[in-house]
Amino acid sequence: MTLTVVGSIAFDAVETPSGSRDRLLGGSAVHFSIAASQFAPTRIVGPVGDDFGEEEYAILRRRGVLTDDVEHVAGGKTFFWAGRYHRDINHRDTIQTDLNVFEDFRPKLSPASRDAEVLFLANIQPELQREVREQCRAARFVAMDSMNLWIDIAHEALLETIRHVDCLVLNDSELKQLTDEPNLIRAAHKALDLGPHAVIAKQGEYGSALITRDGFFGLSSYPTTNIVEPTGAGDTFAGGLMGYIASRPGDVDAATLRRAMAYGTACASFNVEGFGSERLYDLERSEIDARVAELERNSCF
Ligand code: AMP
Repeated sequence: MTLTVVGSIAFDAVETPSGSRDRLLGGSAVHFSIAASQFAPTRIVGPVGDDFGEEEYAILRRRGVLTDDVEHVAGGKTFFWAGRYHRDINHRDTIQTDLNVFEDFRPKLSPASRDAEVLFLANIQPELQREVREQCRAARFVAMDSMNLWIDIAHEALLETIRHVDCLVLNDSELKQLTDEPNLIRAAHKALDLGPHAVIAKQGEYGSALITRDGFFGLSSYPTTNIVEPTGAGDTFAGGLMGYIASRPGDVDAATLRRAMAYGTACASFNVEGFGSERLYDLERSEIDARVAELERNSCF
């Protein structure tokens, strides 16, 4: 089953206490699709500028990511984000966000992307997420992410997008900020009242939680100690989650979501073991399955 993702396609500059990189392939849709393509054909939608070349396309295509809907904006510059991590790598500051080609982007999906059965609206302006949602009418399962920037500067547009998805995937602090509610469960229920059937709260090194109207499920993260750089861990989690869902026929029930969270968790654990998504470039599916099996021995899903 096919999976379409819209989100940022970026160059990232990152600083950690032990090293830095000034030009990494990044962006929410890139991290997502590199993970999701392990499970299902994944089509990536978004614009890039003249600085995005064969080297970057090759990374995506080598993983089987379908890039026909990457739009090259002549004379434009690719989205740029810079961040600095603290000694406690769960904390980071955004230093710079340049939307560049995203400023005037109007997504026009090809028929193949529009017909996807599973759709993920990765972190980008909520208006763009909504435009893509409207074009993908056949999707049987739609989920989305966002971040504090859009909660701050595009709150109403974000609420409107949330009304049109099945599942909201957000960091727990962002979920609390979005709903102005300090208790996670109450915050999730306020989000469910907007329309989604499920809310997944990402909790960094502590794992993730699934909240539905009639249940709760918590999963710890995979206990890797080899943490190099965590940019994109949340998007990679979403990529594993949605990729697994796209690979399964039938209804997306709570049991499927719980197992999908385990795949997301395993993918995210590899992401933090290298800069950007580099650790996933040559990753084998069997390595992901082994971590899922280990998670399964230690949790109930
Ligand atoms: P994560 O670490 O999962 O929060 O994802 C970080 C990725 O999100 C980086 O690769 C950035 O390029 C991208 N990113 C950062 N800020 C934004 C933003 N405002 N909109 C879209 N993507 C962003």
